[in-house]
Amino acid sequence: MRAARRRSTTARTAGRRKTAGGPPGGRRRPASGRRLRLRRVRSADSIYYVADTITPVDATVHPVPAVTADNEFFWTAASEGRLVAQRCTGCGLLRHPPAVACPACHCLDHEVVELSGRGEVYSYALLHHPRSPRFQYPVAAVLVDLEEGVRVVSNLVDVDPAAVRVGLPVEVAFEPTDDDDLAVPVFRPRAGVAPTKGVAR
Ligand SMILES: [Zn+2]
Repeated sequence: MRAARRRSTTARTAGRRKTAGGPPGGRRRPASGRRLRLRRVRSADSIYYVADTITPVDATVHPVPAVTADNEFFWTAASEGRLVAQRCTGCGLLRHPPAVACPACHCLDHEVVELSGRGEVYSYALLHHPRSPRFQYPVAAVLVDLEEGVRVVSNLVDVDPAAVRVGLPVEVAFEPTDDDDLAVPVFRPRAGVAPTKGVAR
């Protein structure tokens, strides 16, 4: 009976843990090794977790991007400090993000061309939630209108959040990821065009 009760208690405990809906993957620890304490938040239509104490690990080291056979050329170029895009060899359309076929003529053939990395902020959002210790807040998420006519979603760094604006001239930079062989493109204000009173990453 004692053993049976123990099994029963264990089963109930396991059941509670499962239905409690803890964060996927169980306990998480940031790269620093410190325990990441998550607070469960219920909104009108979802449940999410917020870190009570944000301890930035190193906001300049990014999570590893999802590399596929279709976008590998982009990430390989980024790791070499180059921003590239596809140009359709059928109609000449420059496109981004990477895609298998041309959205204009459906041609499957393309060439990879290097971009200047210069452009302007077309749109942006200052993100405050959900928080992750991998970033410093607010995160300036920007849609950059590049000189060549394609747009890219990225982060704007080395800028006071109050200085972010539509039309801000920016240039690409590359920051490391947890994978030493991969880097991610980010953007920063072009020299001399915006105050950099603080740092938003
Ligand atoms: Zn085309």
